[in-house]
Amino acid sequence: MGRKFFVGGNWKCNGTTEEVKKIVNTLNDGQVPSQDVVEVVVSPPYVFIPLVKSLLRPDFHVAAQNVWVKKGGAYTGEISAEILVNLEVPWVIIGHSERRLILGESNEVMFFLPYLSFWVVIIVPEKFVGDKVAYALSQGLKVIACVGETLEQREARSTLDVVAAQTKAIADRISNWDDIVLAYEPVWAIGTGKVATPAQAQEVHSELRKWLHTNVSADVAAKTRIIYGGSVNGANSKELAAQPDVDGFLVGGASLKPEFIDIIKAAEVKKNA
Ligand code: PEP
Repeated sequence: MGRKFFVGGNWKCNGTTEEVKKIVNTLNDGQVPSQDVVEVVVSPPYVFIPLVKSLLRPDFHVAAQNVWVKKGGAYTGEISAEILVNLEVPWVIIGHSERRLILGESNEVMFFLPYLSFWVVIIVPEKFVGDKVAYALSQGLKVIACVGETLEQREARSTLDVVAAQTKAIADRISNWDDIVLAYEPVWAIGTGKVATPAQAQEVHSELRKWLHTNVSADVAAKTRIIYGGSVNGANSKELAAQPDVDGFLVGGASLKPEFIDIIKAAEVKKNA
């Protein structure tokens, strides 16, 4: 069976109750290919998730934008996988570059230990993003796992090393890839209007698939959906979707606009391929 096209809408830290209702109404009125052709997931801020779930068409699903790394408890401000499962939220985005770079979530995990009268920061070579993915999967969530290089890393020609290391940090912690979608999101393309060319996207997706083939298995490489994110819009989505290893999109800014429907329709390109 082929890889079903996947379109995620990441609403980030946007919206009021009225704006959220308006976006959902637009989605509900949109004519899109059937669920056999495309899987659609939207990711509102946590607090709007119950509202969106209550209003959203049944063929679209919701995702959280982040999750705590382990079982919930005394972690003020965090949302655990258990809470998401309790609220029947099926998906979660993990490792988005805005969390990795602005909020300091790296591949490493930090411990703060008291020593005499100081706090000592110990960075251990465990993988924070990988741990999050592993814990979320263990609780029954499905994961959109993000990887991608910065502009400096691309200019230093280390794109493939960076995305391979980020993917390895996940692969090292999990054994089942059935519930993972891998999102390649070059940081320089996110929210900048500077989209990767179809050839640039295809090159990285194809290398990621080869990496999965070599380091995980042929089956996982063939089945795992690798989606592209970074300034996707209604106008550029069809050409990107036509690339053989582009299995869908993670969309930020344009997911708040009516053109998100056009992006979902780009799935037709694959159906007709
Ligand atoms: C994103 O936030 O995942 C993203 C791809 O944003 P944008 O589409 O706005 O570049």
